[in-house]
Amino acid sequence: MEAHEAAVAAIAANVRQFYDRKESYRIYHGSTNSTRQSRLYRSRVIDTSKLKHILVVDTVAKAVLVEPSVPMDSLVEATLQYGLVPPVVMEFPGITVGGGFSGTAGESSSFRYGFFERTVIWIQIVLADGKIVKASKTNMPDLFHGAASSFGTLGVITLLELQLVEAAAYVELTYHPVQSVSEAVKKVEDLTADSTVDYLDGILYSKDHGVICAGRKTNTLKGGVHVQQFTRAADPWFYIHVQRSVAKDRGPITEAVPLVDYLFRYDRGGFWVGKYRGSPPNDRDGSTIAPQQQHQNFNTA
Ligand SMILES: Cc1cc2nc3c(=O)[nH]c(=O)nc-3n(C[C@H](O)[C@H](O)[C@H](O)COP(=O)(O)OP(=O)(O)OC[C@H]3O[C@@H](n4cnc5c(N)ncnc54)[C@H](O)[C@@H]3O)c2cc1C
Repeated sequence: MEAHEAAVAAIAANVRQFYDRKESYRIYHGSTNSTRQSRLYRSRVIDTSKLKHILVVDTVAKAVLVEPSVPMDSLVEATLQYGLVPPVVMEFPGITVGGGFSGTAGESSSFRYGFFERTVIWIQIVLADGKIVKASKTNMPDLFHGAASSFGTLGVITLLELQLVEAAAYVELTYHPVQSVSEAVKKVEDLTADSTVDYLDGILYSKDHGVICAGRKTNTLKGGVHVQQFTRAADPWFYIHVQRSVAKDRGPITEAVPLVDYLFRYDRGGFWVGKYRGSPPNDRDGSTIAPQQQHQNFNTA
């Protein structure tokens, strides 16, 4: 905590200097998923890249105290050691906690929990004049509400307490084929009303062919249910696997996916974007051509 406080004090002092000089700045957290070039000058950034630690996992309160530049894969890895997992996990492993809170992020569990920001209990934020404050639903609630999805415009997030839920070994995933948008909507509505469903999303392959994927966390494998992974080099890309599975067997199909493989199932292949980047959707060589998290370099001014 001491190291955290020292790092935040340094950030606050830098913010104050920008304030005194009446200069704008950008937030730099060391990495990006963006495929676009952005101009970044060392003298015009607030650097949060050192804020990449998970400080406390509270198993009683089911909460984690986490610095903003921690990526989702590291966060999941840490909380799983305690049998817990964030309720909403962005599907690209490199998305950071601070970026998810500030930049809008939602996932297949958001039909239960809302956007990622709704799972945050409180934030520590450095305001434009360098003041360090804590905001929550009860303390400075307008700031807490406004800072979510505000892209860093209200301040620099330096710490977050995040809600956690019970993890499980697998997600039992059922693929429901649908033949129209209206059938897809109806299926989503029906499954939303089913309280046993933890994760819900869908893929429309064309106007008359889609699949709604409904997941339930489980620690027990039912007899005859196949275990399917998506994170190893030789594993299939998720959207292609789902399409092929329902093409073979027209009815709903169920398989068990290890939790981490489920959470990051779209990473290899970049949902289906990978297909359009010039490489064939070759799910035999296992190549990853999704936009990957990259270290972000500074421009020279
Ligand atoms: C290739 C790609 C894949 C994506 N996949 C998903 C997905 O699977 N699920 C999903 O929900 N969303 C997805 N998104 C959207 C993504 O969740 C948001 O764009 C998110 O904000 C990205 O966070 P980041 O950590 O990459 O941060 P950045 O993109 O660097 O930052 C996002 C915004 O947050 C601000 N910010 C960052 N850190 C802080 C901080 N500490 N304090 C204040 N402001 C800060 C930045 O200034 C910026 O305005 C994807 C985006 C891309 C480009």
